[in-house]
Amino acid sequence: EQRLLAESLREIGSVLDSTLDMERLLDLLVEQVGRLVPYSAVFLYLIEKNTPKLVRTRVHETVPHEFAQSLQNTVFHLEKSSYFSALLDSHEPVILPAIEEHHTWIKSAIPLGAWMGAPVVSKNKAIACFSFVSLKPNIYTQNHANLMATFCSEAALALQNARLFSEVQQLATLDDLTGILNRRQLFLEGKREFSRARRYKRPLSLLMIDLDRFKEINDTFGHPVGDEALKTLAHILRKAIREVDIFGRYGGEEFVLVLPETRREEAIAIAERLRNMVEQTPINTLSGELRITVSIGVAEQTENTQTFEELVAHADQALYRAKQSGRNRVEGEDEGNK
Ligand code: GH3
Ligand code: MG
Ligand code: MG
Repeated sequence: EQRLLAESLREIGSVLDSTLDMERLLDLLVEQVGRLVPYSAVFLYLIEKNTPKLVRTRVHETVPHEFAQSLQNTVFHLEKSSYFSALLDSHEPVILPAIEEHHTWIKSAIPLGAWMGAPVVSKNKAIACFSFVSLKPNIYTQNHANLMATFCSEAALALQNARLFSEVQQLATLDDLTGILNRRQLFLEGKREFSRARRYKRPLSLLMIDLDRFKEINDTFGHPVGDEALKTLAHILRKAIREVDIFGRYGGEEFVLVLPETRREEAIAIAERLRNMVEQTPINTLSGELRITVSIGVAEQTENTQTFEELVAHADQALYRAKQSGRNRVEGEDEGNK
């Protein structure tokens, strides 16, 4: 039996190592833990600032249907339980052999048997926690606790790697200053959307947004204030657009907004709404309230638009005309491009 367990643990270790994707890893964790510990339901929490956040619930397939739903809906207010603080403090699994009926931290429609909690500890801090319940009392043993201690140290490594990976990925795709897509990611996602629109003959438009006379802001108030204005502008725009829109920093004070499923007329109306909103919104900076305006060039993808870059160029030409005709304006692309 010991040999089988050792084998399982080794396998589990390599399964957990096989992914850097956080969502997938969480699935794997609740899936694999069942090879070591019996449960009617297992709950996986991520812990931040000593607060557990439920991220996965899994009811065992052998649980009769009439209980499964109740277990699924059982709520553990772990943070209110003294066992949870014991987990955080001791960094060791805690077993509750028989759950008495009226635990204030468990809201369950059915009587539960036993409970075990097991913390995942990384760098001397509990970063996650498993919570097992069984309909049978007295099921959890010291042996299970020991197995969970081993499992959780594998889990800690895997979680840490997945977290690092997502941080690195964010660094590679987002712009440092504004937190929106950087130029590289903007082109990557923009091209993907462009091809899709082309393939399925769906409408798509693109906005090129440029801050008006931004050099003057830098010259008058200094670069840090200029940075703040850029940051706030990106924030204002991002809040005003849809989830499916692709919004990124194209250059210094130039932003690109890709609008899937959007025709020229609608895109112009959106651009006009954004332009107006920027004009109306005071920007708070270290040097006090600042007023800014933007000019926007709009282009729609047509059969004749061969590449994403071409679409960007059309919007850029329209932007140029918006600047020429006095700034704080929206212009559509040249009719000649259609
Ligand atoms: P226009 O209305 O014609 O767009 O005038 P403008 O002054 O905005 O245009 P121009 O292209 O001449 O200058 C852009 C300025 O944007 C120059 C540069 O100092 C500033 N800029 C670019 N990137 C950043 C940045 O990251 N932070 C700050 N603070 N300024 C930036
Ligand atoms: Mg510019
Ligand atoms: Mg500018």
